[in-house]
Amino acid sequence: MRVKVLGSAAGGGFPQWNCACRNCKGVRERTLNASARSQCQIAISSDDKDWFLLNASPDLRTQIESTPELHSRPEVGPAESTAGRNAFRHSPIAGVVLTGGDLDQVLGLFLLRELEPIHVYSTASVRRLLRDHNILFNMLSRQPWQSMWTDIVPSESFRLATPGSSPYIGCQPVALSGSFPAYVDGKGTDLKGEEAILGLVFESSHGGGRLAYFPTVPAVGDQLLELFDSCDLLLFDGTFWADDELLGLNRGFRSASEMGHLPMSGLAGSLNRLAKLGRPRKIFVHINNTNPVLDKDSVQYRQVSEAGWEVAEDGWEFRLQYPKPARAS
Ligand SMILES: [Zn+2]
Repeated sequence: MRVKVLGSAAGGGFPQWNCACRNCKGVRERTLNASARSQCQIAISSDDKDWFLLNASPDLRTQIESTPELHSRPEVGPAESTAGRNAFRHSPIAGVVLTGGDLDQVLGLFLLRELEPIHVYSTASVRRLLRDHNILFNMLSRQPWQSMWTDIVPSESFRLATPGSSPYIGCQPVALSGSFPAYVDGKGTDLKGEEAILGLVFESSHGGGRLAYFPTVPAVGDQLLELFDSCDLLLFDGTFWADDELLGLNRGFRSASEMGHLPMSGLAGSLNRLAKLGRPRKIFVHINNTNPVLDKDSVQYRQVSEAGWEVAEDGWEFRLQYPKPARAS
């Protein structure tokens, strides 16, 4: 399985348009040892042909254009195009798997509205939140075939569907104790709390290579630790370094834990909590522009590195155990 990091920053990106914190100012003025980052976006494939997006970031259009694997490559000839198919339209994006309904996770869906069939996987609550509560989403169902939605049931594994290909990616969804996005006004009686935030574990049918994608993690219990240790690659919530990182920055900000993110530092933080993991390569994704680990010269970056973590950058790619060539008998 190939895993591409198209974007590694939290909502707002890095730098963020209205921010002049030490990090944002430093990366703009090139006085900081840090790279600019677009908003969190991952793409995975088990056959180099069909790609699945994990969430759909507001930066998706530029992320697709900067990733050749995701470019349109129509193969139909003029004869087929006259039979109703358009010779110039195609996308290797086979589907989008949503971990929640936050704007940073779903705004990119609107950027896929140009009448290309798209398969979206989300919990029933997130589907209702988007499609029933938001009239804008009608843009994705102007034609009956335009978007297909599959409900994810937490704890029930499912396959990501690819048109007519035999290898597949299996997905194990894990319900996390998070809440629905801030724009939900409390009237959502048709929304179930356990369907608000998911973590996802992917495994290719080729065998070997397990990916855990957990960009929003409010807390880590022992069961989750065990699950992480069954994976080869862990992409984990790197939003905040400290629980009080945003407090005092501006009015109305909440702590990391109030926002549903386990901070890196502190006794209960992820560095400490996940210190004993033996198997996975550990990568922080979804990094907020205020997080000091963005600065490679910072004490915090050194601490994270010494604890065996890496801080993701846009454009990184991982190859989990790839299919071996078939043996000729
Ligand atoms: Zn900033």
